[in-house]
Amino acid sequence: MGNINSNYPAPHPDIAWQDGNIVRWEDCVVHVRTQAGFFGANIFEGIRAYWNSSEERLYVFRLDEHLKRLHQSMKIMRMISPYSSDELKMATLNLLKQCDFRQHAQANIVSCFGFPAPGDPLSANARVGANITAVPMGRSVKTETGLSAGISSWRRITDDAMPIRVKIGSNYQNGRLAQNQVSDAGYEMALLQNSNGKVCEAPGACIFMLRDGQLITPPLTSDILESITRDTVLELAKRYTNLKVVERDIDKSELYLADEAFICGSIIEITPITSVDGIQINQAIPGAVTREIQTLYFSAVEGRLAESENWCTPV
Ligand code: PMP
Repeated sequence: MGNINSNYPAPHPDIAWQDGNIVRWEDCVVHVRTQAGFFGANIFEGIRAYWNSSEERLYVFRLDEHLKRLHQSMKIMRMISPYSSDELKMATLNLLKQCDFRQHAQANIVSCFGFPAPGDPLSANARVGANITAVPMGRSVKTETGLSAGISSWRRITDDAMPIRVKIGSNYQNGRLAQNQVSDAGYEMALLQNSNGKVCEAPGACIFMLRDGQLITPPLTSDILESITRDTVLELAKRYTNLKVVERDIDKSELYLADEAFICGSIIEITPITSVDGIQINQAIPGAVTREIQTLYFSAVEGRLAESENWCTPV
């Protein structure tokens, strides 16, 4: 018999960061009676770090933008953290340095609401804690082959119910329902429609489709996360391709007719979609434009583009 804190899949380092200190991996825990434990009252970031083998150095991708979004999530949730963005930045870089991965990695910064005040279980005045963990993480598994997507009947949470543009742990129960539903139906990745019936994003990624030479993605006002990878793709496509880049709503039936489609996110990177609801996209083969965007993206994260200088922070 174990407990839910045991058996984190290897490999992971021996250390983590919590509330100002480097702690042992197994001691980096949050009590079950905190608001984070009860209600999923946390805010987090999922960040990638890429190993540059020629320089023998790890670079964190768009760390400042992740810290900015963390701060914006806290602002909306009225979370007052004892740690500034600069402190969290230094803590993340220091933890990654001590982990000494020498390979690509993922880091997560989590800010949690602590114990509720008596009689006030949802108070924003609870103590706030933070933790940072990092694990080795290679290229996302389906970037080469692509994956099948299914559109869930669960609708995306709307911004008038939950602030979906920021990264709040409890938002993820919506994506979880969608993902479990489509997995049971045999698809690899869920896509969600927003309350207007427009396809807006995946549980942990944004969506792009190519139609008639236009690269199309839903706007930031369509109940999606303000994704850093989406922003990166838009920047790269505008700067390095001849594609017309358009931010507009996407209908379900339009997606069925897309010439190409892919999802993007820090963790999933650029992953082609080969079918939607069983309807093949580009005869189920990742398309040339998707490949071009992938190549640009991996060049950016690995420090080989002009933009990389601003986007990649050395550890
Ligand atoms: N949408 C959702 C719901 C997500 O969880 C993520 C992953 N953070 C994304 C989009 C992609 O965001 P980013 O590019 O900032 O990782």
